[in-house]
Amino acid sequence: MIPVPFDYLRPATLAEAVAALGSAEEGKLLAGGQSLLPVLRLRLAAPTLLVDLGAVPGLRGVQLSGADLVIGAMTTHAEVAASDLVREHAPLLAAAAATVGDRQVRHRGTLGGSLAHADPAADLPAVAAALDAVCVVAGPSGRRSIPAADFAVDLFTTALAPDEVLVEVRLPSTAGWAVHYEKFHRTAQSWAIVGVAAAVRRDNGGIGAARVALTNVGPVPHRARGVEEALAGAPATAEAIATACAGAAEGTDPVDDLTASARYRRELARVLSTRAVCRALGVRAD
Ligand code: FAD
Repeated sequence: MIPVPFDYLRPATLAEAVAALGSAEEGKLLAGGQSLLPVLRLRLAAPTLLVDLGAVPGLRGVQLSGADLVIGAMTTHAEVAASDLVREHAPLLAAAAATVGDRQVRHRGTLGGSLAHADPAADLPAVAAALDAVCVVAGPSGRRSIPAADFAVDLFTTALAPDEVLVEVRLPSTAGWAVHYEKFHRTAQSWAIVGVAAAVRRDNGGIGAARVALTNVGPVPHRARGVEEALAGAPATAEAIATACAGAAEGTDPVDDLTASARYRRELARVLSTRAVCRALGVRAD
């Protein structure tokens, strides 16, 4: 399919990008193009202007700022997965980024694009929600911060205004936490039927604190707060973890689609949450 005709702009500054979005009849940002180009080709969107972020400085890279890890929105999945800083301070994000699509997708697709696209089956929005990440966005009146848990508001819809750009993602360091991203998919390079992001802090041989978020069990990432509360203070045994994860599907709203029924997804939520926490802690799940 051929997209509807559009104008193309490659601004040299963030301010120019924001201004271009504000003045367009319908502007769209272009990052890695891995989700946007298929959308355009299928004519699911028909922007009048494409604003390419590729030449805007300061949007790419990873750095530490105090206790926060700061990742530029244009940092690719491959860069996130390979970054020593991400591996140390947000090992769950590095692990999940390595599972996104295939090598080509990971070398073009970006963290910011993944969060802004807000696909319910995407891996990284759930990880960002689990890690209490904060999305920093820039608009005509300056910058504001949006917790990652509130960033996706519905299917393919975010809290971004039409003239705002996601600039960076800030994550409190989880260095030393035990982590695992459990992705259940039909083939190695396909999307998650359900995914579970788990980060666990050990405490005296047991579980001190846990963060668990699920992907593809509703229109937006699902933070399993009930599971987290049940895990905190529990012993690090397969039985205790399975008991704590029994209610992982509570509050989810999965759909029936070609890959799985809603009922199956709810069952996966329980099974995969148990598996993710067990694998994070190196506990054998029965
Ligand atoms: P683009 O496609 O350029 O943009 C996507 C959307 O985000 C557009 O609406 C764009 O306007 C907006 N946007 C981009 N950057 C910004 C910004 N900085 N601020 C505001 N808005 C912005 N994803 C997974 O999570 N798991 C998978 O297993 C997976 N498999 C894939 C397999 C294939 C074959 C393909 C093609 C894609 C797959 N993806 C998967 C999607 C991939 O992760 C994309 O990289 C990601 O969804 C979008 O990132 P992008 O940089 O390509 O964004």
